[in-house]
Amino acid sequence: MSAESKKAHNFIQSLIEDAIAKGEHTGKVVTRFPPEPNGYLHIGHAKSICLNFGIADTFDGECNLRFDDTNPEKESQEYIDSIKKDVEWLGYEWAGDIRFASDYFDVLYNFAEELIEKDKAYVCALTADEMAAYRGSLKEPGRNSPHRDRPVEESLQLFRDMRAGKYQNGELVLRAKIDMASPNINLRDPILYRIRYADHHQTGDKWCIYPMYDFTHPISDAMEGITHSLCTLEFEDHRPLYDWVLENVSVPCQPRQIEFARLNLNYTITSKRKLKRLVDEGHVDGWNDPRMPTISGMRHRGYTPESIRTFCDMVGVNKAGGTVDVGMLEYAIREDLNVRAPRAMCVMRPLKVTLTNYPADKSETLVLPVHPQNPEMGEREVTWSQTLYIDREDFVEEAPRKWKRLAPDQAVRLRGGYVMTCREIIRDERGDIVELKCEYDPNTLGVNPEGYKPNGVIHWVSATDSVEADINLYDRLFNHESPDSDKEGNFVDHLNPESLVVLKGARVEKGLAEPRTDIPYQFEREGYFFCDQALTASSGHPVFNRTVTLRDSWGKGGK
Ligand code: ATP
Ligand code: MG
Repeated sequence: MSAESKKAHNFIQSLIEDAIAKGEHTGKVVTRFPPEPNGYLHIGHAKSICLNFGIADTFDGECNLRFDDTNPEKESQEYIDSIKKDVEWLGYEWAGDIRFASDYFDVLYNFAEELIEKDKAYVCALTADEMAAYRGSLKEPGRNSPHRDRPVEESLQLFRDMRAGKYQNGELVLRAKIDMASPNINLRDPILYRIRYADHHQTGDKWCIYPMYDFTHPISDAMEGITHSLCTLEFEDHRPLYDWVLENVSVPCQPRQIEFARLNLNYTITSKRKLKRLVDEGHVDGWNDPRMPTISGMRHRGYTPESIRTFCDMVGVNKAGGTVDVGMLEYAIREDLNVRAPRAMCVMRPLKVTLTNYPADKSETLVLPVHPQNPEMGEREVTWSQTLYIDREDFVEEAPRKWKRLAPDQAVRLRGGYVMTCREIIRDERGDIVELKCEYDPNTLGVNPEGYKPNGVIHWVSATDSVEADINLYDRLFNHESPDSDKEGNFVDHLNPESLVVLKGARVEKGLAEPRTDIPYQFEREGYFFCDQALTASSGHPVFNRTVTLRDSWGKGGK
């Protein structure tokens, strides 16, 4: 992507432009996307990815992908692999190799010793509870730890002993020596290192002490020559600490932290921790369940990278928080697929139709466009035969006024085919309708009938060569606008019981026997549907996941 292709202008871009114009910034712009590999990426991360890679792109700079991996117990290779895949799938290329904060564990350790030597850090033996009590509150200043004035040599020795495994989890910590009376609690001698006997996915059992985020992040940024460290607003109060770390150790450069508002979406949860709970408790079928707001879930459901990037552009980047309507995300995918999705017919709830005046041994091939507005997408063939299927919902025995579909003695056009009139209803012994006998009008292929007017157009498939398919009708996962608004974390109470309705025995036109797996189809009159590759392979016939309905009918009683 070139700089010209970037449209939305955000405040961070303006800040950088100003700095360049004033000569305050020279050289390359370097950003980074720094996920913690403790879960799969979600739509909120997509915003950060689009921003970081987008800024780098705009200024012909670079963006690194760095795993912020300082909590080994919660992290895993599975998460690392999924994150790499998701960033690539969104269409971004990181500069050079993947980075890990753990690449800098030696460097970080040395900087920690440097701080101790400068009397800017000390080893503290307060318990977690004591430390909390000493920390004070928003109204009360904190008190100095009794270990704060420990001699430099002693702290140095204790820190080395911590590293050497001479202490247990939680026995000692290394703390920055800043200001216990600071109005900013983050500056009240924050912890820099703690003891954790945990194997690390990158460094194995080399370390039993691990650096804290607030110490690791600024140094990792500086080691990589990051110029603009973009993060979400909750880190605004940490910025003085970010700057303090960089000012007090001998890093090669001074990155600048800039905060922006997190993306919050209604009807959606954007927290890896909570999404993990949905997975662990089996409320969804894994991280890539099509109802999950994870990038992998959205990919599985049929979202395109383009639609997600467009959505992030629409949302924009600013300082003020707020909640975005998930309808906007649905709009973005609908708009993209409207232009690009091939059309096909799928009868979800088949009702047999026999054309009484069409020979049983005859059939004909009808040619329909793959996309009505885009001839370049080519044509598709469907078969017209004596027995067809239409959707049960397209027939009623007593038509209401302005009924646009089929009813006794009324006519409809079958999309791309002929006009037919319903003449007889066949029922089973229970009285359920099992078949319609209809008469087709042979003079109506591509032309209007003479002397009467069909109600409307419905979709259909041939019984002879259509293919059985299962359809997963996905809907929003939560039926509450802000599912995690209550503090008790009862978001699982707001799961939408109808977020998945499975339809077995649907019929799709023959061309979908081996469906495309690169883009969803528009099933005419129904919505957009994406082939589920795993389920298709395991069930032996095509399985489709509903990406989104054709129109926004949420809460309007529509499908
Ligand atoms: P989560 O609570 O889901 O774990 P996080 O912020 O802890 O989110 P990280 O892996 O640390 O997750 O995030 C990587 C980057 O993505 C960070 O820069 C973070 O600020 C950004 N990010 C995470 N969630 C959002 C969001 N909802 N909107 C915008 N950016 C986000
Ligand atoms: Mg985090």
